[in-house]
Amino acid sequence: MQGLTPLHEAQKIVLDATPVLGLEKVGLVESLGRVIGEDLVALRDNPPWDNSAMDGFAVRHEDIKQDHAIAKPVVLKVVEDVPAGKVATKSVGPGEAIRIMTGAPVPKGANVVIKVEDTEHTQDSVKVFKPEPAGSNIRPQGEDVRKGDCIIPKGTQLRPGEVGMLAILAKPFVFVHQRPRVAILSTGDELADLDERFDEDKIINSNSYGIAAAVQEAGGIPILLGIAKDQPAALKEKISHGLNADILVLSGGVSMGDYDFTKAVFKELGAAMNFWKLAIRPGQPLAFGKIQGKLAFGLPGNPVSSMVTFEQLVRPAMLKMSGQRSYGRPVVQAAFQETFSKRTDRRHFLRGILTREAGGFTVRTTGDQGSGILTSMVKANCLIDIPQETERLKPGDPVTVQVLGEPQWDREAGALPSIGHRQSCC
Ligand code: AMP
Ligand code: MG
Repeated sequence: MQGLTPLHEAQKIVLDATPVLGLEKVGLVESLGRVIGEDLVALRDNPPWDNSAMDGFAVRHEDIKQDHAIAKPVVLKVVEDVPAGKVATKSVGPGEAIRIMTGAPVPKGANVVIKVEDTEHTQDSVKVFKPEPAGSNIRPQGEDVRKGDCIIPKGTQLRPGEVGMLAILAKPFVFVHQRPRVAILSTGDELADLDERFDEDKIINSNSYGIAAAVQEAGGIPILLGIAKDQPAALKEKISHGLNADILVLSGGVSMGDYDFTKAVFKELGAAMNFWKLAIRPGQPLAFGKIQGKLAFGLPGNPVSSMVTFEQLVRPAMLKMSGQRSYGRPVVQAAFQETFSKRTDRRHFLRGILTREAGGFTVRTTGDQGSGILTSMVKANCLIDIPQETERLKPGDPVTVQVLGEPQWDREAGALPSIGHRQSCC
């Protein structure tokens, strides 16, 4: 009998076989969350000129450098009033000031801006009551971005800050890595889809939807192929449709049962496949390989097993395809809150609830951990990663935790009002 394959070996095989997808041109707003495929070099300075950080008066430092009694301010002649969006036509000479707005270019001759609230002024003159160092309230040319510098290196995932920067760099379009298209196929004669009658002997196809959501969460495009019957011909036909995508994800039919045809069909389609019994729980039986150059995964049918194996194997492959540089979830250490024991033959992924407390993170399980208990995923905000060699855990033991989705503990502990992240039904 085939031995158990450690997850990290399977992950290496998957990632080594995974290509990075090519580039496509997208609009700037659409680029959010995508990975840029070009180095973005600034073609000009930002700001493009020295400009005022305040509404006020541009003056010469020489004219205002002495300390003046409040009763005896420096009085300067206002020679021009420059509204927003305009540029001064005059320069500031000795004893002169030009009124300017925030962001306006600093006029020639001036090297300080005095805030309007620190002055008294009329249309023609301004009183300055205290000295300011040279350069005060002036944002120098290029303080943000210098012409010729690489501002966003390729391989960066674009966040709102980068999208704003793309606009500063005058890039309405940008080249990003394509999003992986993932064809999703559920298998099993016992399955009924949402548009069918649920007879008593049928199980609702939940995997297709859970996996499609996971694909979207990972930045991919799901393509739902529906349900294939447990017949090799039906399976083969659906799989061949799925090969138009970048990745094909099947669930079910990878075990040793009489109706588990996935392996046979994968082989028939000429795939160089790995059929693993992974040393993890949940999610032992798994098939992976390439069919006609496309990645094909056969995940176990049990709903939790399919989600956990998706997390550990398909998601990293999708992130690599999308041009990302790290393929895992955020990981933290937490103090386990329960007792737990297991055999030392497999690595376990318990569904957990991670909480941030004054002394650090704590984590407890969601309760029953059966591979058909999807509520364990519904309640979870993390997977507790228990190494193969660990035999037992007691309260307080440190464990490694993979954080799923948005870290919800921050919402409760943060400064903004919160009504708590998890509601209970009445
Ligand atoms: P299998 O791996 O095909 O033997 O399936 C194992 C278990 O997972 C069976 O109880 C199936 O009913 C269940 N299962 C398989 N596919 C799905 C699916 N698409 N949605 C929900 N449950 C499924
Ligand atoms: Mg089945």
